Amino acid sequence: MAEEMRDALGAVYYVTLGCAKNEVDTDRMRSLLRSAGYEEAFDPGDADIALVNTCSFLASATEESIEATLALAEESADGVRSLPIVMCGCVPSRYGDDLPPELPEVAAFVKTDEEDAIVSVVDGVLGVERATPPFVPDVKRTVEGSVAYVKISDGCDRFCSFCAIPYIRGRYRSRAWEDIRSEVVDLVGEGVREIVLIGQDTGIWGEDFAEDVAGPRTLAQLLVAVAEAVRPERVWVRVLYLQPEGMTDELIAAIRDTPEVVPYIDIPVQHCSARVLKAMNRTGSEEELDALFARLRREIPGMILRTTYLVGFPGETFEEHERMLAFMDRNGFDYTSVFAFSPEDGTRAAKMDGQLDDDEKLERTQAAQDLAEALGFAATAAHVGERAEVIVDGIEETDEGVELIGHAWFQAPDSDGAVHLDATEATVGDIVEVEFTDSFCYELVGHVVG
Ligand code: SF4
Repeated sequence: MAEEMRDALGAVYYVTLGCAKNEVDTDRMRSLLRSAGYEEAFDPGDADIALVNTCSFLASATEESIEATLALAEESADGVRSLPIVMCGCVPSRYGDDLPPELPEVAAFVKTDEEDAIVSVVDGVLGVERATPPFVPDVKRTVEGSVAYVKISDGCDRFCSFCAIPYIRGRYRSRAWEDIRSEVVDLVGEGVREIVLIGQDTGIWGEDFAEDVAGPRTLAQLLVAVAEAVRPERVWVRVLYLQPEGMTDELIAAIRDTPEVVPYIDIPVQHCSARVLKAMNRTGSEEELDALFARLRREIPGMILRTTYLVGFPGETFEEHERMLAFMDRNGFDYTSVFAFSPEDGTRAAKMDGQLDDDEKLERTQAAQDLAEALGFAATAAHVGERAEVIVDGIEETDEGVELIGHAWFQAPDSDGAVHLDATEATVGDIVEVEFTDSFCYELVGHVVG
């Protein structure tokens, strides 16, 4: 292609912070810039410009994003030149006009809903002039490795009282089926072996479509359609970030009965107490959640459960915290993320009475993390002696030489630990049958049996 053959206009160094959704956004900006004539630099010293895609989910994530930006500015100010930096994503979306006076080191700010204009921004910073506008409407996304995250929606309408995401990412928008389908087909054509469907609230995908929109209209129908789109290749399909109310009979059946869809259910409950959930602007009760997880275990035999506990919400009593620990224990979650509540600017919970002091939050968080680890390590150890399919993700150097690293269907990539393989005959991107021989923490050791 002529676009690819012409000399690069400059080299871009990418830094991505935060969640998988940001990885997807960086991939898209990288693809847009590549199509417009910019190559990638893998070291800031080789770059003409740096792009930092930031996270602002928690105050600590905002700080980390700003620190990473400043560190890059400092490192690149070598007395000869300083690297222009474009700050993208959630921090500019959240803090907007407050940022330029505070961060003179940054050449340009790009909010999440402005990222399709990244080529014009980079052109502007580097003084590149074009005869024709750089807009590339349907750029093909490229990823490295065997796993690809695919966004099926953006934004969120739930307005949980502790969460700034709806103010950063805007109202909920389902992505059109044709867009999802063509991206999935391209990714599978590139050799991707696992598609992970993500969004802030995946369970309500399609509910905002107009009545005349054809194709799948619910998440259950989408899972079946994605599975059909990846055939005949052997590809796993995983969906993350479900909500308890979204677990319809139709969705449970789709997860259970569609061979490509791994029976891995990620429902971040945040809490089990009806009182705390109500204060969080969420719904449900301990009894309803217990009943839901019992039903899921009954209807999807062998499924894996992941959840999240937001510890120390304003007004959380010690008894409510202990009930949440008992709830985690009773439901035997395979994986639990534990976050300490932090009062986020602009959210209702930040102004609520009953804010817990930091020591109390720390103590409760530690107790929850200890339990999450005990449950998670035991669940991991329970796989020893079993056989399961593993995607080979890469090669790592160890003291004893090199080993292959992969992940089983019951391990979400980047979150749940890995499988260390005692074989070198498999190649990266293979799906192999593995027998697990040992475990440590969330990691498994195994040998390839087929
Ligand atoms: S569901 Fe709640 S916690 Fe999740 S992104 Fe939406 S508002 Fe935030």
